[in-house]
Amino acid sequence: MRRGAVEFQRRTAPLLKPTLSRLADTQSPQTLFITCGDARIVPNIITTSGPGDLFTVRNIGNLVPDHQTAAEDASVGAAVEFAVGVLKVREVVVCGHSSCGAMKALLDGAPHDAPALRSWLRHAEASRARAAARPPVRIEGRPLPSEVDQLALHNVLEQLDRLRAYPTVARAESRGELDLVGMYFDVGDAQVHLYDARTGLFRRLGR
Ligand SMILES: [Zn+2]
Repeated sequence: MRRGAVEFQRRTAPLLKPTLSRLADTQSPQTLFITCGDARIVPNIITTSGPGDLFTVRNIGNLVPDHQTAAEDASVGAAVEFAVGVLKVREVVVCGHSSCGAMKALLDGAPHDAPALRSWLRHAEASRARAAARPPVRIEGRPLPSEVDQLALHNVLEQLDRLRAYPTVARAESRGELDLVGMYFDVGDAQVHLYDARTGLFRRLGR
């Protein structure tokens, strides 16, 4: 980390300074980007964006607590209300990914000596129930062979539904001021997929 920070100051900071000095007093991002803490997901790289573009929330499993109980884990709800209600972002993205440790823990059980992790993952129980009750979510017409990755797709859709239960989100969406976007990143393939609500499929973005 330290070597990287020194390198940033030496090489990148001079290039970014004009952009950052314009942003010095305020931010006006277009997008609230909710994704997993997984180190392989780099939001700015997979969206070709930079400083000021993405208001980013990261947590294990890219989860949005149910609105009814959001006060128990208010961090995500606060970010949603701030980004949508105050910053007036135009889109909210929920980005899941392949081989997600949270999805694995949901299927296999979290470690017993990790009570906070077990407690957090309860926010994904609805995703597991959704995956069990509904047909597979497909990418370009094909279901994913991995149960973990299949759960990750259902999990993205479940979190979008949950976002719509937040009054701030529902109001902005009903006024046509906000788009909700489902994204899935296949790490090994370096491939972004976007959910198409019209067809109910995730689509590979072209190269
Ligand atoms: Zn993950």
